[in-house]
Amino acid sequence: GIGYINGKFTNLDELVLPIDERGHQFGDGVYEVIRVYNGTPFMLDEHLDRLINSSKAIKLPITQTVEDFKNLILEAVDKSQLMDCNVYMQITRGIVTRNHLFPTVPVSITMTVRPAKLISQTTREKGETAIFHEDERWANCYIKSLNLLPNILAKQTAFEAGCYEAILVRDGYVTEASSSNVFIIKDGKVFTTPLSKQILPGITRMAVKNATNLLNIDFIDKNFTPEELLEADEVFVTSTTSEVLPIVKVDGKLIGTGKPGEVTNRIYQQFLKLI
Ligand code: PLP
Repeated sequence: GIGYINGKFTNLDELVLPIDERGHQFGDGVYEVIRVYNGTPFMLDEHLDRLINSSKAIKLPITQTVEDFKNLILEAVDKSQLMDCNVYMQITRGIVTRNHLFPTVPVSITMTVRPAKLISQTTREKGETAIFHEDERWANCYIKSLNLLPNILAKQTAFEAGCYEAILVRDGYVTEASSSNVFIIKDGKVFTTPLSKQILPGITRMAVKNATNLLNIDFIDKNFTPEELLEADEVFVTSTTSEVLPIVKVDGKLIGTGKPGEVTNRIYQQFLKLI
């Protein structure tokens, strides 16, 4: 892999930021994770769109254009010599002595490119497990911000319960999961939480929407309750790193037959064709 820190490419173990950095001290920044398949970043324009939106939402004074970011990412991928990898890019409000007020220094841009960790075939065939967890996050979850403490706490709780994901519930409805979007399938139709300030507009969610269009499967933006999820025929989660991943058990209760479903599989196969 390779690192990048404010204008310089480095080895990953040389990526060092001073403690007086707003990402460390305040989580005052935004990030993106982009999957590279066979040398090509997947849905790069969409990721950069979201990065710009997140930056605007927290008033980051970025001077770089989408084209600048694109060139930087492509250069990093090229330098890494990796064909299948994850790009992590982080922008913070800069390096400056700690003070809550906005500084007037340039933003800090850092990046890592590392080999993609693949989900095993066995896991895909068996499906994954989840728990329900209170959504304890703030009111602006559409921003891909560095503040992930509630997500981390929920994911760790899932792990300690022997599960893979925490499905978050706010005011009686499923929002998303700790690091993925959530979908249910009922009578052949796909339902997912509508986009709002309460969830991250997932890029993989967008890819799944495209896949269902191509497959002539109904894709319906609609809120659903944990009970409706448990009664669904199939459940899956999506993210850049997990792609389309079946969930077969939640809070110890089987979804459908307790095996990955056929509709989920068709959507995943179509997703793979979009890559
Ligand atoms: N929701 C949350 C809270 C996430 O952290 C992520 C990604 O890590 C997603 C959804 C999925 O987004 P994407 O498909 O763009 O990776």
